[in-house]
Amino acid sequence: MVQALRRRWTRVVRQHIFPPPCVRADCRVSATARIWRRFPPIRMRQAWLCSPQCLEKEARSIFDQVSSLPMPDLPPNHRVPLGLLMLEHGYVSEEQLRTALEMQTRERRGRIGEWLQALHFVTERQVLTALGVQWACPLLSLRQAPDPACSRMLPMPLLRALHLVPVRFISATRLLYVAVCVRVNYRVLASIEQMVDCRTIPCLVGDRKMDGWLRQAQNLERDVQVFDRTSGPVEMARITASYVARLSAQEVRIVRCGPYVWARLQVGSNATDLLFTVKSMMDEVSAAISDSRSPIAEMDRLEDAISLKPGINRPPAGR
Ligand SMILES: [Zn+2]
Repeated sequence: MVQALRRRWTRVVRQHIFPPPCVRADCRVSATARIWRRFPPIRMRQAWLCSPQCLEKEARSIFDQVSSLPMPDLPPNHRVPLGLLMLEHGYVSEEQLRTALEMQTRERRGRIGEWLQALHFVTERQVLTALGVQWACPLLSLRQAPDPACSRMLPMPLLRALHLVPVRFISATRLLYVAVCVRVNYRVLASIEQMVDCRTIPCLVGDRKMDGWLRQAQNLERDVQVFDRTSGPVEMARITASYVARLSAQEVRIVRCGPYVWARLQVGSNATDLLFTVKSMMDEVSAAISDSRSPIAEMDRLEDAISLKPGINRPPAGR
C-alpha cells in the first residue's frame, strides 16, 4: 500500500512537476506549458515525447523504418531438407520419399511432411521429431490446454497470421513458451520479445493441435484494432497518435511482426494493440511461404544429396 502510494507520487512528480524533456528538436511546447499540459509524457524507444503531436512526428520515422524493412520472414536455406532428415532417421525409404516428392511436385501444394503423412508413410510424431531436429527446437508436451491468460498476451490476428500460440508464461524469469507448427521464425519471436519484454522459447506442435488452440483462443480476443488499408507510415503515425491522445497512453512500442506493423499502447497495466497491414508485405509473406514450400526446390536438393552420396546415410553438411 505504502509502496503503491510512493510509486503514484513519484509518477505525479515525474509527470507534472519535473516532466522529462521532449526528445523532438522541433518541439514547440515550452517547459512551463509542459507542466500544465493535459497529457502524461509518453515513452517510446527509451525517449520521452511531451504530447501526441510530438509522438506523431517521432513515430513517422519509426513506422517508415519498420515498414521498409526487407521481407523478414524468408526461411534460411541452410536447413537440412525435412525429407533428408526423415530418411536419415530411417522413418522413410528413398522410394517413399521420391513418391511423396513426386506427388507434391505434381499437385504443387502442401509440405513434404504433410504428403508423407497423407500417404501413411510416417506418423505426425515422426514429422514433428524431424522438424524439431531441423529447427533445433523441442517438441511441446503439455498435459493441459494452454493458459488462456498467456494466449491473451498477443493479439489474435497476429497468432492466426503466424500460426503460433503462447502457451505458458513464467513471470519470475519472464520466459514465454510459444507453440509453433510450420517453422520457427526467429525474427517474429524477437519482435514478440521486444513487445512483451520477455524471452521466448519456441516449441513444436502438430497442425491439428495448433488449429484447435487457435479456435479456442478466438474467444479470448484482447483489445486490438486492425487497419488493413493504410496509405503508409504517415497515416500509421496519425492513427497511433490519435489513439495515444484518446487513451492517454504512457508508452508506445512499435515493431514489424510478420505481415503486420504492430504498435502497442500501454495505459497502466492495460495494453491496446494496433496492427497495420501493408499489402506489399502480405504479398511478400505469401511469396516467401510458397517459396519455402517449393516442391521443385526440395526435389532438386534431394537429387543433389543423393548424387553426392549414393546409398545416402546422412544429409550433406551446410545445405
Ligand atoms: Zn514535444
